Amino acid sequence: MEPRVRVSQILSAHFCPVRFYLERDSPRAESPRYTVCKQLSSHLGRPLDANMIWDEIRTVSPGIEPAMRLFLDTCVERCRDAGWPRPSEVDVSVFSDRLGIRGRVDKIFEDAPPFAITRSSEAPPAGVHGADRIRVAAYAACVAETLGIETGSGLVEYIPSGALRTCTIQPGDRRGMLRSLAAARRVMAGQIPRKPRRAPCTGCVQRERCTPTGTSLSGLLRE
Ligand code: SF4
Repeated sequence: MEPRVRVSQILSAHFCPVRFYLERDSPRAESPRYTVCKQLSSHLGRPLDANMIWDEIRTVSPGIEPAMRLFLDTCVERCRDAGWPRPSEVDVSVFSDRLGIRGRVDKIFEDAPPFAITRSSEAPPAGVHGADRIRVAAYAACVAETLGIETGSGLVEYIPSGALRTCTIQPGDRRGMLRSLAAARRVMAGQIPRKPRRAPCTGCVQRERCTPTGTSLSGLLRE
């Protein structure tokens, strides 16, 4: 059986298969922003004590920059008033052998929608980001197969915005997930990906490595 592809790898290939190729042997470290949001999320549905959460964050990530405390305080203020449901389980490992994927879903609930993912990005003006639709589609497949909970939707927590959004999965989301999964599999099988026509290069952390002057992408990738 082929190794299961992690949901995070599917999303990396969704962002850009070239970036997934360049980062395939060196997974990115967790960002301080995510560390803050993840810890805050574990307190949602109860009164929020910023001092206590910050202490926990420094235990989880002792080297975190003190400046991240300001970010935490902003997030706490924005998250105070939303009606956050309390999960029955957190950080649950899930998989789908049918699709050959796996991941860890942030929260499971007794009621529908039965799961949530935690994001450290701002919420879009409405709905959820396109990449999060792919995440929700992938986790829904895993939750159905691992936990026996069939669902057509999942929740997305946008911690910096204090927003909880429902994502109702559309066929296009599942198609997008399958395309990105196939792209990830091709890279994992050793294929060198082509640079997508509309690659999101602005702000990409691999930009210098990917497109140095006078060096072709394929040449670089063979290094
Ligand atoms: S610079 Fe563009 S093509 Fe290269 S990895 Fe980043 S997004 Fe992909």
